[in-house]
Amino acid sequence: MPNFVDPSPPGQCIFCRIVSGEIPAAKVYEDALTIAFMDIGQVNPGHVLVASKRHAVTLLDLTTEECAAVMQTAQRIAQAIGREFDPPGLTLLQANGPEGGQTVFHFHMHVVPRYAEDGVGLLWPRKEPPVAVLQDYAARLRDKLGT
Ligand code: AMP
Ligand code: ZN
Repeated sequence: MPNFVDPSPPGQCIFCRIVSGEIPAAKVYEDALTIAFMDIGQVNPGHVLVASKRHAVTLLDLTTEECAAVMQTAQRIAQAIGREFDPPGLTLLQANGPEGGQTVFHFHMHVVPRYAEDGVGLLWPRKEPPVAVLQDYAARLRDKLGT
């Protein structure tokens, strides 16, 4: 993950300023709720960010309408990337909080074209607990759904 961190206060962050047109961006698409523009880092050619237009920090701050709109825009962008860059793979990545890898604290999703051995990585330390532990986690989460 990138180590650039945007320290701006809410509403004045880099992505809010891109939404308002105050700073330039290579814009790909926008609608009422979302905006898509090229990530300046370009992990691979065609790497796009889909952001909420409204300043929301994480996934948990989005409305259900914004959640749906972000995924629809991500799919449209993925289709365009497929038509133009034709990568063999594609990864969606959405980071929440510094510990989750987020460095710009305005909700966004990465749409990243992927290639074999392109150097992109995320460590995935599997723990493989017993089934009873999985059942316990599931029961605890079922209990919290809808609250
Ligand atoms: P994340 O680490 O998931 O918060 O990703 C933040 C991303 O924002 C990084 O990949 C940066 O390259 C990208 N970024 C930061 N500033 C800009 C900018 N002005 N225009 C486009 N992308 C940006
Ligand atoms: Zn913002």
